Amino acid sequence: MKWEDFKARMIMGMQRFMYGRNGVDQLTILILIASLLVLFLSGLLNVAWLKLPYYAGVILAFYRTLSRSLVKRRKENYVLVQGMSKVNSWFRVQKRIFQERKTHRHFKCPACKQRLRVPKGRGKITITCSKCGEKFSRKS
Ligand SMILES: [Zn+2]
Repeated sequence: MKWEDFKARMIMGMQRFMYGRNGVDQLTILILIASLLVLFLSGLLNVAWLKLPYYAGVILAFYRTLSRSLVKRRKENYVLVQGMSKVNSWFRVQKRIFQERKTHRHFKCPACKQRLRVPKGRGKITITCSKCGEKFSRKS
């Protein structure tokens, strides 16, 4: 058998084996990274029992990759992806506030927590919330 045929057969076999299984998702990658960090720490601090969470993480990663309970695994992963997007959008807002720090000020509506942007340097102004209509005054 030629090497190319062998390789193609291996790939097809793997695909057949993984069919209907969860595969590697973001949560599994995160678990593996966390496990490796723990392993690294265990070596650094010379603490042998820290290898246990590493093994647990690797086993969990394998379990999730080979799992056939797709709905459950997707739900778990979805929680992570949602959380990550919240963290990302928080950083995006902070970046924007920083970039506009000379021209605008940002306030939160005291009633509905909507973030509001007003031009800077207009003294004390009355801000009307664009979402709920609440009026409040702040120094701009
Ligand atoms: Zn509001």
